[in-house]
Amino acid sequence: MNLVLFGPPGAGKGTQAKLLTEARGLPQLSTGDMLRAAIAAGTELGLNAKAIMDRGNLVSDDIVIGIIAARLDRPDAANGAVFDGFPRTIAQAEALDRLLESRGQKIDRAIELKVNDEALIRRSESRVKEMLATGQTPRTDDTPETLRNRLGVYYKNTAPLIAYYRNQGKLKTVDGMAAIPEVARSIAAVIEGRA
Ligand code: AMP
Repeated sequence: MNLVLFGPPGAGKGTQAKLLTEARGLPQLSTGDMLRAAIAAGTELGLNAKAIMDRGNLVSDDIVIGIIAARLDRPDAANGAVFDGFPRTIAQAEALDRLLESRGQKIDRAIELKVNDEALIRRSESRVKEMLATGQTPRTDDTPETLRNRLGVYYKNTAPLIAYYRNQGKLKTVDGMAAIPEVARSIAAVIEGRA
C-alpha cells in the first residue's frame, strides 16, 4: 500500500507517518528528513538545499523527484510506503504516479491533515520553546517568519494536490487538530476503508 500524507507545515505528518511505520511496517519516505540528512552529511546537494530550506522555500522538483526515485529502488519500499512531505507540487505528484506505475504500483490513498493556521503557529512556538528549555536545538526553519513563508508556499504550491487526488478518487481529509492517537485512529479508518 502506498499512502501520501500531506498538510501544512506542523500538521503532524511526520508524527503520523512514524506511527504508520510502526503499525504497518511501511517505510516512511520523508524528503525533508532525507534533505536534512544530506545537509548533515555535508554533501553538495545538502549545501545547495540548506539555504532554500532555511528560507522555507521548496527545493527543485528535479532534486526531490531524483531522491525519491532512488529511495523507491531500495527493497524495503517494494510493498509500498508512506510518503511524508512528498509530493509538494503537482509536478511531483505526476512524477510519483509515473515512478510507481513503472514499478507496477500506485498511490492508494492521499490523506490531507487539516489544521488551522493560528494553531500551527502556536504549535510551532511551543515546540521551539520546549526544545530550548530541554537544551535541544530547534530546526532552523522553525522560526515564526519562516513558518509564515512555509504556510504561504503550502497554500500556493501544495494545496492544489487536494484537487489532484480528489479527481483521482483518492483524497481523504482527516481533522489534524485532534489529539495524536485520535488522528492515528482516523487515518487507520481511512486505510481500512471504514471512512
Ligand atoms: P519538511 O521536513 O517536510 O517540513 O521539509 C522541510 C523543508 O525541506 C521544506 O520546507 C522544503 O524546503 C524542503 N522539502 C522537503 N520536501 C520537499 C519537497 N517534496 N519538495 C520541495 N522541497 C521539499
